[in-house]
Amino acid sequence: CGITGYIGFRDAYPIVVNGLKRLEYRGYDSSGIMMYDGKEIHLSKTKGKVSDLEAITDNDEKRKKGNIGIGHTRWATHGVPNDVNSHPHISQSGELVIVHNGIIENYDTLKKELISRGYVFKSDTDTEVLVNLIEEVKKNEGCKLGKAVQLALTSVVGAYAIAVFDKTKPNELVIARLGSPIAIGVGKDNSEFFVASDASPFIEYTKDAIYLEDEELAVVKIGKEIKVRKIKDDSMVDTNIQKLKL
Ligand code: GLU
Repeated sequence: CGITGYIGFRDAYPIVVNGLKRLEYRGYDSSGIMMYDGKEIHLSKTKGKVSDLEAITDNDEKRKKGNIGIGHTRWATHGVPNDVNSHPHISQSGELVIVHNGIIENYDTLKKELISRGYVFKSDTDTEVLVNLIEEVKKNEGCKLGKAVQLALTSVVGAYAIAVFDKTKPNELVIARLGSPIAIGVGKDNSEFFVASDASPFIEYTKDAIYLEDEELAVVKIGKEIKVRKIKDDSMVDTNIQKLKL
């Protein structure tokens, strides 16, 4: 299982897909990618290898277009390996998209609650529960994505590394971790950001990286300083940018 992501000025597709290939050693049964072209979200996902994913995107330019993308290789824990259960997962409104490594242990309770509030689930995953929980919190609190993710995660039991995209705020990603590794690459003058389970997918683009600690959440926004806070109490954390060595 692995996560990759890019937000900035370059074509995101090759960065995200080549990054997934670098993470293949982590093992997986399915893979997928979300691309945002400035207008629309395009989801491509399939059971099998990253090369099977490329077979879907190869002759379909719209699936590869854009400067924002997130990708995932899945090691199924909840729901069999198939196309629908593959990540990324999209929220009911079609606005929020998530990739997730790990397990949401109390997903069943959360899912029942969300169903009672009118949510309909397409997959059998714990992850689709999380993206809809974030959506529900965002709607109820009327807050920004970062705050909604933080609040949603306080009601989650389990382990995760996640990256979340919001179509209504397409110049940012929210990244969080508890128990699964996640690294963020920072481009020159914050003009671009990379996300990955380890730094190997982005080391050729930047040597500046932040490794999130457990229970930390980062908001990365094009052109802005990265902001890291504690999930539990919302306190700000000093960002610790490390120099990667080859
Ligand atoms: N629990 C999630 C799922 O089964 C994520 C698994 C993973 O870490 O790849 O879809």
